[in-house]
Amino acid sequence: MDKLMARVEECYRLAENRFERPFDRPRVELDLRGQKAGVAYLGRNLLRFNGQMYRDHNADFLLQTVPHEAAHLIAHELFGSRIRPHGPQWQAIMTDLYQLPATRCHDYPVQRRRGTRYLYRCGCPAHIPFTPQRHALVKRGRRYLCRLCGDMLHFTGKQAAQ
Ligand SMILES: [Zn+2]
Ligand SMILES: [Zn+2]
Repeated sequence: MDKLMARVEECYRLAENRFERPFDRPRVELDLRGQKAGVAYLGRNLLRFNGQMYRDHNADFLLQTVPHEAAHLIAHELFGSRIRPHGPQWQAIMTDLYQLPATRCHDYPVQRRRGTRYLYRCGCPAHIPFTPQRHALVKRGRRYLCRLCGDMLHFTGKQAAQ
């Protein structure tokens, strides 16, 4: 969170130097979930960032996502609410002030939760990964049939990380 706050501060200092006026610092939260990397709440002077994506893509997140969202608040402060979110005013802050590409959406692929998979086989060439929950049910006597070949799926003894 320290690095994130420092980057927000840096973005604001650059804006203050360029536009020769002070800007109120936004509240910053790291509690966003789902597909979006960050959201700027214009009326509330609030930035919410995706904590999982921040951890997974730290350097790029600091470089690009933080200025992207900060620029929304700064453009709103300068030009009001009638401008388009990714219009020329926002783009100018990104390219001229921050020297960054004005990429519209800067979202990251959401990583699936990692975990062990138990590899099962049938008559088909490919392994079929089972979750630990499903594997436990098999050990308790549950049987699963392949939907393609109809054979019973059996545990190969192999595991894979996913
Ligand atoms: Zn945006
Ligand atoms: Zn099969």
